[in-house]
Amino acid sequence: MKLILLGPPGAGKGTVAKALMARDGSVQISTGDILRAAVAAGTELGKQAEAAMAAGDLVTDELIMGIMEERLQQEDCKKGYLLDGFPRTIPQAISLKALLEKLDEKLDAALELDIPRDVIIDRLTTRRTCSNCGEIYNVKAKPPRVEGVCDVCGGAVVQRDDETEEAIENRLQVYNEQTAPLIDFYRDEGLLVSVPTSEIEPVMAALLERIET
Ligand code: AMP
Repeated sequence: MKLILLGPPGAGKGTVAKALMARDGSVQISTGDILRAAVAAGTELGKQAEAAMAAGDLVTDELIMGIMEERLQQEDCKKGYLLDGFPRTIPQAISLKALLEKLDEKLDAALELDIPRDVIIDRLTTRRTCSNCGEIYNVKAKPPRVEGVCDVCGGAVVQRDDETEEAIENRLQVYNEQTAPLIDFYRDEGLLVSVPTSEIEPVMAALLERIET
């Protein structure tokens, strides 16, 4: 299955991607994860992306397309991919379309996760992440057994720089201005499937059924 997951930060794109991935062998590709790994490793890519990411701004389309052009041609993409956090701008969507035409591939759908703003803010400000293995926690719903220590690997569980209230406000504004227009773009392409997050379970079940038949 080749899917784009659209939706504001905190909508649950990563969770949906992981559930689908476990079933049909497609690979989750999160540009945010790729960039965070580059920042942690101190690579040239990481240095170029770091400041924009910490502020909750987008990194440049050129940087992202450079990453994705290479990533989508890797062997593990043959069984399908779930694009999580990409594309994020109209120019990225146009470049992706051209890239897929070049690779002779077609998307199955753009799945939009629709979620109320207050739910997002609460979810993101209470989210914590293991700085070592990326395991996600929540101070209210799923705290680590020992405060600040990852249950899985013992790494430090921290609040991401871009999950302070100020950075989240900015990320939501950036989403509304630069990413939300993709909803119309993919509607025009005939690929949009919009789902309120309250209905995500039945929609995932329907998608999985489609994959399995
Ligand atoms: P995410 O984990 O998807 O919320 O991404 C974290 C941050 O990485 C974003 O706030 C951006 O700074 C950057 N980023 C991730 N994906 C993209 C993209 N497709 N285009 C531009 N910036 C991105």
